[in-house]
Amino acid sequence: MAFEQESALANAQKQFDIAADKLQLDPGLRRILRVPQRELTVTFPVKMDDGRIETFVGHRVHHNITRGPAKGGIRYHPGVTLDDVRALSMWMTWKCATVSIPYGGAKGAVVVDPRALSPGELERLTRRYTSEISILIGPDRDIPAPDIGTNAQIMAWIMDTYSMHSGHTVPAVVTGKPINIGGSYGRQEATARGLSYVLREAAEVLSFPIAGARIAVQGFGNVGGTCARLLEEMGATIVAVSDSKGGIYRRSGLPLAAVAEHKARSGTVADFPEADRVTNAELLELPCDILVPAALHTQITARNADRIRARIIGEAANGPTTPEADSILYDRGIFVIPDILAGAGGVTVSYFEWVQGLQEFFWTEREVNAQLERVMASAFQQVLRTAHEQRVHMRTAAYLLAVSKVAESTRIRGIYP
Ligand code: GLU
Repeated sequence: MAFEQESALANAQKQFDIAADKLQLDPGLRRILRVPQRELTVTFPVKMDDGRIETFVGHRVHHNITRGPAKGGIRYHPGVTLDDVRALSMWMTWKCATVSIPYGGAKGAVVVDPRALSPGELERLTRRYTSEISILIGPDRDIPAPDIGTNAQIMAWIMDTYSMHSGHTVPAVVTGKPINIGGSYGRQEATARGLSYVLREAAEVLSFPIAGARIAVQGFGNVGGTCARLLEEMGATIVAVSDSKGGIYRRSGLPLAAVAEHKARSGTVADFPEADRVTNAELLELPCDILVPAALHTQITARNADRIRARIIGEAANGPTTPEADSILYDRGIFVIPDILAGAGGVTVSYFEWVQGLQEFFWTEREVNAQLERVMASAFQQVLRTAHEQRVHMRTAAYLLAVSKVAESTRIRGIYP
C-alpha cells in the first residue's frame, strides 16, 4: 500500500480540496483559499549569555484575512518548517470560521528549542522576533497568542516590545497574556475546557458517558495536561499520558496529581515509576474509549489508523489526523471531533480577551466559561447537523461550513481592484 505524503501542508490542502470539491467551489475562490496570502521569513541575531551572537529563523504567515484580523499562535520548536506554519495558518482560518469568530488565520514560529535557552536568551529572542514581525502584527491587524513552546510570559514580552515601539501600552496586540496585564480569566485552560465541552456534547449524542470512560492523552503540556485534569474532574479515568520524551500507561488509571508533580520535578512523565512505559506511537493504539491527541501534527495516519482502539477521538492538537486516516476511522465507526472544532476553545477565549482589552472592561471566569460553552456547543451542533445532512464525517462537515463562510465573505467583498 502506498502511504500518503505526511506533510502538514499537503494534508491541510487535501482537507481543503475535499470540501472545495463537495461545495463545487468557484475555481478562482479555490485558487485564493488554497494557499497563504502573505508570508514573512526573518533571520535575526540574538546575543547569547556567553557573548556569542547566534542567528535564528522565524516566520509569520497570514493564510487569509477576509473575515477579520489575522489570528494565531507562535510556536517555538526546533523542527518547525515554513510548510508547517503555512498549514497551521490555514487551520486557524478554518478554526475561527468554524466557531464564527471574526478573525482570519495566521501562525508564527521560531526554529528553536526554547528549553535550551536561558530565561535571558529566551527574552532577547522573543523581543527581537517581535521587532522583526512588527511590520505585520497589531491589535487590529494580526494578534499572536501562545502555541507549542510559548506561554503567557512570552506574550508579555511581545506585548511590551510592541508597546515600547508604539510609545504606549497596547494590550490587545497579543492574547494569552498574564491576567494582571490584561489577560483573560480562563484563557490558560480554554483549549482544554473547549475540548471538554465538545466531548460532553459528543458523549450525549452517542449515549456514551464521560464518567467512567478510559482516556488516553498524547501530550502533557498546557493543553494535554489540562485536558487530562478536566476529564478526570468529569469522572473519567486517565489511563495514559505522554510528552516529547515518551508516555506512561496504567490500565486501572494514573494518579494524575502525582504524575504532574513528577513532571514538574524531573521534566518528563516518561519515567514515572508506577506505570508501564509506552512510546508516543504506542499510546495512540492503547485500548481506551476516548483518545485525545494534544501534541504535534500527523500522528494518526494510514499506517496506524486501523489499529486505533478508541471510540471517540477529540483533537486538541492541530492536524493530528491525515485525510487517509480520516477515511479509515470513519469506515471503522470511530467518531472524530476535528481540530478546527475540538481545539477552538483557545482562540475563542483569545477573542474574548481581545474584546475585553479593546473595551477595557473585564469579565469574570464564570462569564468567560459560560460564553465559551455557548460557542463550542453551538458550533458542535452545527457541524453535527451538517455531517448528518451531507453524509460526511465531522471534519469534512466542519470544512464545508468554514470554507463556505470564508468563500462567501470573499465573494461578497469582491476582488480588488
Ligand atoms: N495556538 C492556539 C491554536 O492553535 C491558539 C491560537 C490563538 O489563540 O490565537 O488554536
